[in-house]
Amino acid sequence: MRVAELTSPGLEKLRERRPVALWPVGAVEPHGPHAPLGTDTLISVGMCERAAARLGDPPAVVLPALPFGVTRYGAAFAGTIGITEATLRAVVLDVAAAVEQQGFRRLVIVNNHFEPEQVGTLRAAAADAGALYLDLVRRRNAQRLTDEFRRGSCHAGRYETSLVLADAPELVDAAVSALPANEVDMPQAMAEGRTDFLAMGMERAYCGAPAEASAEEGRATFQTLTDMLVELVRAEA
Ligand SMILES: [Zn+2]
Repeated sequence: MRVAELTSPGLEKLRERRPVALWPVGAVEPHGPHAPLGTDTLISVGMCERAAARLGDPPAVVLPALPFGVTRYGAAFAGTIGITEATLRAVVLDVAAAVEQQGFRRLVIVNNHFEPEQVGTLRAAAADAGALYLDLVRRRNAQRLTDEFRRGSCHAGRYETSLVLADAPELVDAAVSALPANEVDMPQAMAEGRTDFLAMGMERAYCGAPAEASAEEGRATFQTLTDMLVELVRAEA
C-alpha cells in the first residue's frame, strides 16, 4: 500500500481498481524538548497507513509523505525547516496533476501541521486541484478529538506526544515525564497577533501537558483520526 515500495507492474495491476491516493503532509519544526521534529508527518503517515489497511472499496495507497510545510512559529528554535506558501501550493498542484494522470481515483491530502498559513494554503490548493482535504481543525472534526486538542493547547502536548508514543516511542525523550503543563490558547494567541512560539508563552516550544501523554491515548486518537479519514474517502472519493 506504500506507493514507494511497489514496483511499476505492481502498481499497474492495483491501478485497475482505481485506488485513492492518500498523501501524508507534515512539517519539520520543534516539538518541545521531548518529541521529534517530524511529529506532524509521523501522525499523518500513521493515519494514512491505518486508513489504507482498512479501505478496500475503493482501495487506497499511501504516497510518500511531504515532510516540509509552511513553518515560521518555531523559527527561534533549532530544527525549523520550512517552505513558502508558493512552494507548498506548487507542489500540491503538481502532485495532484500527476496523480490524476496516473489514473488514481482521487488525491486525499492528510495534514497535521496546523499553522494557519499551512492550512489556508492546503485548503485552497486542494480545492483548485480537485483533491480532497481532511480538515482536522474544522469544528465537526476537532470536536471528535481529545479535550486538549479542542482547547487548542496542543502543540507537542499530551495529544501529539501520545500519538508519537503509539507509533514511535523510541523517539520520545524520557525527559517528557518531568515537563510541567503549559496551558496556551493558541487560536486566541494567534487572533491577538502573537505568531511565534515565544510570544505565545511557549519558551520550550510546547504547550499542553506532554507529561500526561500515553501510548494508549495515542492509539485511541489514531483510531478516531483514521475513522474520519475513512469516512471522508467513502463519502466523497
Ligand atoms: Zn505538531
